[in-house]
Order: sequence, then structure tokens, then C-alpha cells
Amino acid sequence: MGPASPGIRDGRVLLIPLFMCVPTGVRQMRRRRFEQKLPAASGRSRPARALFRAGAAAAALIALAAGGIALRIQAENALQSAGPLPASLRLPGEMRLLVISPHPDDEALGCGGLIARVRGAGGQVRVVFLTNGDAFKVAAGREERKIRPTPQDLIEFGAERQREAMLAGMRLGLRPSDLVFPGFPDRGLTRLWTTNWAVPFTSGYTGVSRCPYRLAHRPGAAYTGQELLDVLKEVIAEWNPVLICAPSPLDDHPDHYAAYAFTTAALAELQMQGRLPEGRPHLMTYLIHRGQWPVPRGASPSRPLVPPQPLAGEAAHWELFPLRPHEVTAKQAAIEEYRSQTGVMGSFLRSFVRSSELFAREPLRAVAALPDGAIGLDGRGTGWEAVDAQVLSPQADTVGRALRRGADITGLSVARDSRNVYLRVRTAGSRSKGVSIRVEARALGPDGFRAVEVAAGAPESPPPGIRMRWKGRDLEVAVPAERLGDASLVWVGASTRYLGLTVDKTGWHLLEMPGRVLTARKTSPPAPARPPAG
Ligand SMILES: [Zn+2]
Repeated sequence: MGPASPGIRDGRVLLIPLFMCVPTGVRQMRRRRFEQKLPAASGRSRPARALFRAGAAAAALIALAAGGIALRIQAENALQSAGPLPASLRLPGEMRLLVISPHPDDEALGCGGLIARVRGAGGQVRVVFLTNGDAFKVAAGREERKIRPTPQDLIEFGAERQREAMLAGMRLGLRPSDLVFPGFPDRGLTRLWTTNWAVPFTSGYTGVSRCPYRLAHRPGAAYTGQELLDVLKEVIAEWNPVLICAPSPLDDHPDHYAAYAFTTAALAELQMQGRLPEGRPHLMTYLIHRGQWPVPRGASPSRPLVPPQPLAGEAAHWELFPLRPHEVTAKQAAIEEYRSQTGVMGSFLRSFVRSSELFAREPLRAVAALPDGAIGLDGRGTGWEAVDAQVLSPQADTVGRALRRGADITGLSVARDSRNVYLRVRTAGSRSKGVSIRVEARALGPDGFRAVEVAAGAPESPPPGIRMRWKGRDLEVAVPAERLGDASLVWVGASTRYLGLTVDKTGWHLLEMPGRVLTARKTSPPAPARPPAG
């Protein structure tokens, strides 16, 4: 869990189209009135009143439509419980489980029952809490009895959440020594992945650019992507887990999908350096934030946790982990230890108290290898016919996305020839005013990581050497291959904004890069490093 619960974020998204559409509605009404030459009647207040009424009526209509969409999404999710359940997760015999938790409480919500099972069977568990959850101002303010908590209040709140995590861990059979607290910045993990890989990030909440916690894995560690990657690599290499449970790349919360990216990056680099045993560890992901999911809210201990409807059939292979009654009880007790969280969003947290937990295997898809010049970047989609989108994003799964179709991403496709890597973002509707799209690629090759970021529709031009074309529903980008190095793996993701607020985002997904290609060269490509997928 993090500070921006999906409800809050969806609320913000919902407001954007309303804000934009109301003046349009008023303008249309005003024009119609003018055309009909309605008498102004007596006094100046009547047309103003009529205008106000028309505006209010338009706003009400849009609110009604938005409400209808929200209800539809909720109903579809509720229906999922009646559908066929995913297959059951089978655990390896010898168990060393590593849970990657972006904030204190995600481990209990996503994996509390699994942790209890492993500990009950004598297995070992480590939990890495990437952040102490110190950006959650609402909860901190409640805790400190202040409307505006200071940076120091937020650091103290982070230390309090750390204590809650220890109490919750005890409910699941964990000792404080099983818990790792690197203390990275809450609401900052995406920045560490994108802009602050090497230069420390300063948290806008706590005001610090180094871990301020005394009881931390490395007190004073710099807030950089490289540092976070090093911590994860160190924990994985030293502790040698059989199974890693990390957040899903499909999670709505930025810290959560960044946690997936960092976890897979740590695994990939360890694999490349020959520091992982053959076939280990397995990686499974868990989902916490996705629109209105889970439905219904509140504890339902006899109901299984099933995937959100828009994600049920695609992208990930889901597996159900049925819990025993005492494991459900232990999980619920662990969740209740997070008093600072249950006080502000108890019903959301308790909606993970179910008869099962839900995990997914992320398929490792490959970048499509095409002959030189196959992709025209001509705005007509030439060359893309042969490429299936490697990253699919559900359509109209929030009110904001349903109403602003030009910002609703449906898929991200990636291809390469011997000269360029091509990325195409497709949206549900055509390019529209006010919408901007950001595409990011971070590649891993023999000489480390290289990243490229392109923003379209924002007041910035693409970095030198990068070409792009945005026409209709497609934004196409061509990145010279050398900008990404001799990469064998690449993480790609896209996001859209409307009036400065995020509408859609894909998270970052790991793809295999085919070896140096094709028609131009005849050398055999090197075998791509395959990170341990489940
Ligand atoms: Zn979280």
C-alpha cells in the first residue's frame, strides 16, 4: 500500500474530463441559445441563470455517465468471482521465500498467507521493505494530529510504520531479523528508475536524499537507482531464495511497478554475472492496486481473491494460493497491526482477507526482429503488421480512460532491425489536444544499463538522433540501436497524461532483445540472458 490509493487517484482522474468538458458543454449551450435568438427577457440575471442551469445540467449528465462507467467496471469485477478460478500455485519443497514489499503492509496484503504457510512448514522468509511509507501525508497527519505534517513528522511516521511491520511480521511467524529496511523514498521509486539512477533523488515529502532511518539496512544510503539495485542484488545473492514474490508490473501504484522493474533488473544482472544457481529463483508477482479492485471491499474470508476482470485473460498467468483457516486468521491479525493504515483505509486493506491469495507469472516476451527498413515510421503503421504488441493494457478500465480515449493506452509494441529499436504506443482514441505520451526504455547489456526516454505532446522535443511520429492512434519512436548498447534485455513502459495528470500507464515490462540482427550481418547472435522466470 502506498499514499495514493487507487480510489484517490481514480478520483483525480475522474475530475479531469469533468473539468474539461463542463466549459465545452456551457460553450455549446451558449452557442445554441445564441443561434435560437432566445429573448433575453427582463434583467441581466436571467440569461446568466439559464447559462448556469445549462452548465449544471451538462455537468450532471457527464457525472452520470462517469458514474455509469464506474458502476460497470465494478460490476464486471464483482462478476469475476463467479467465473472459473485460476490454477493453484504449487510450492517448491525446500522453501526460502523472499518478498519484495514497496511499503510496510504490502507483504501482508499480498503474501501474508504464503508467509504464514512457509514459516509453519519450517521454511525461511525474508521481507525487503523498499520504503518505510513515509510519503503518506494523510495517515501521518492523522497519526501526528496535524493537518500539515512536517518532513520530520513524516520521517517519524516512517519509523512508526517500520515498528508496525515488525509487529505484523510476528503475527506471520517472522522475527525482526527476517525483515530488511533499506528506507528508500516512498513515492520516489519511479524517479530512481528513470531520472535518478546515478544522481540522488530528494524526497518532496521528507526532504532527504539519503536514508534517514537509524534501523536501516544501510543508514545514510543515497537515494539512487543504482543503490537500490545494489541492495536487492546483495540480498538475493547472499540469501539465495528459491521463490521471490514481487509486485506486479500491472499494479497502478508507481512504487509497485518500479519495485517489479528493480527486482527483475537485479535478477538479470546477477544472472549475467553468473551469481545465481541454475533455474533459481522462481519469480511470482502479486497485485495490490488496480482500479476499484478488489471487489467487494472489507474482509470476505470465505471468498477467493480473483484477478480484476480487465486483466483476467491477458498479460499474466494467474495462480491461486488457497489458504488454510489459521493462515487467514494470521494474515488478518498481521493487517490489523498496521494501525496507521487501517485508520485511513481499513476496508481496502481488509479486502485482501480472503480464502486465497493470488499470484502471477510474468511471461518473458521478445522484441520482434525485423529486416532493415521494414518499419516506415510513416504514420501509416507500415511494418508493424508483423508485430504483436508485447505489452497489452486494458481499455476503458477506469473512468478517466473511458472518457479520454486518446490517453487510454491499449498496447506497446517493440521491434528492432540492425540500426534502430522501434517503439509504438497505441491508444484507444486518436491523438487529442492536451494529451501527452511518455515512452521509456532501459536496456541491460554487457556494459550495464542505458536508458532512453521520449516525451510526445509535452513541450519538449525528442532527444537528438531519436525520430518520432504521432498520428491517429499511434505514436511511433525510432531509437538508434547504439543508444541502448549491445542490450540483451530491455524494460519498456509508456504513460499518458492529460492536463498534467496521469491517465494511463503500462508499468515497465521486461523483454528479451534478439541478438544483433539480421539482413545486415551474418554473425550468429549471442544467446540472450534469460532471467529466472517462474
Ligand atoms: Zn504499497
